[in-house]
Amino acid sequence: MAERIPETLQRKLSDRLHFYEDLGVRLFYKDRGAPHALSILTPAAESFEAPVSQQISYEEVALPKPVRNPELPKAPQPTPRAVPAPIAQPAPRMTHKPEPPPVPAGPSLFEAFDKVPDDTLLKIRSDLGECTRCKLHTTRNKIVFGDGNPKAELVFIGEGPGHDEDMQGLPFVGRAGKLLTQMIEAMGLQRKDVYICNVVKCRPPENRAPEKDEVEQCSPFLLRQIDAIAPKVIVCLGSTAAQTVLETNRGISQFRGQWLEFRGRKLMATYHPAYLLRNPSAKSEVWKDLQKVMAVLGLEVKKGKSAEAGKSS
Ligand code: URA
Repeated sequence: MAERIPETLQRKLSDRLHFYEDLGVRLFYKDRGAPHALSILTPAAESFEAPVSQQISYEEVALPKPVRNPELPKAPQPTPRAVPAPIAQPAPRMTHKPEPPPVPAGPSLFEAFDKVPDDTLLKIRSDLGECTRCKLHTTRNKIVFGDGNPKAELVFIGEGPGHDEDMQGLPFVGRAGKLLTQMIEAMGLQRKDVYICNVVKCRPPENRAPEKDEVEQCSPFLLRQIDAIAPKVIVCLGSTAAQTVLETNRGISQFRGQWLEFRGRKLMATYHPAYLLRNPSAKSEVWKDLQKVMAVLGLEVKKGKSAEAGKSS
């Protein structure tokens, strides 16, 4: 009979796997089952605080590039658009070969996707229907379309529904969602002020990452949501959202916190709240990113605001 791994080692392995997952590495293991089951959480991990003194460094891992230009169902014909690129920064003096920008050259699938005239969230939801376009429909309980202000200036994009979201049909209502709510409140906003959605609208079984075909089927609806809402700022939560929307395989920590442009809107990628639950020290980085978002939205950045928000849980 196979020897049982001691519980402490199991926890360490689980934490390590989560760490890799947040870096975007998913290829060397499969369907781990309930991902949070073995996580050990400290009270600090459950609240949004931004300890500025803590810095962490990440090893970058390149993933295979997501497929480009797949056929999209019932999508309007794409026309070439301007290449999305990071918003101009003062050019740093390079002593080594410059890194490629996170956004690839050439019109991307997402940039080339035409706007649907006079689109509304209601129409998009109705077009989605009781979707059976991909295999996720066979295991989902409820479609999680998105939630919030249809005219929001700020849109958060996550990866895909988890168990709680699948049960309620609402995005970010589980533990990671509670932390996201605190992050939003720390910005001086409420959930009803922003719009929250995901790359895929149905829960991937065992919370695995959405697969290429699933993303391809679902992304036209995400793009229509973004266009219909027309936010000032999009925040991608975690590597799946950021890498999918930006069509890059670069590790999120290479471009996290930088202003990028997506379909004519400002886009910021930051770490996923689920990652923060496991790595509370990364909250300071996320808070810095959110403060940049607040500045663009004209929200007052108060000293110590994030720490106050953290005390409530
Ligand atoms: N994680 C996500 O990426 N989205 C949700 O809706 C919930 C958890």
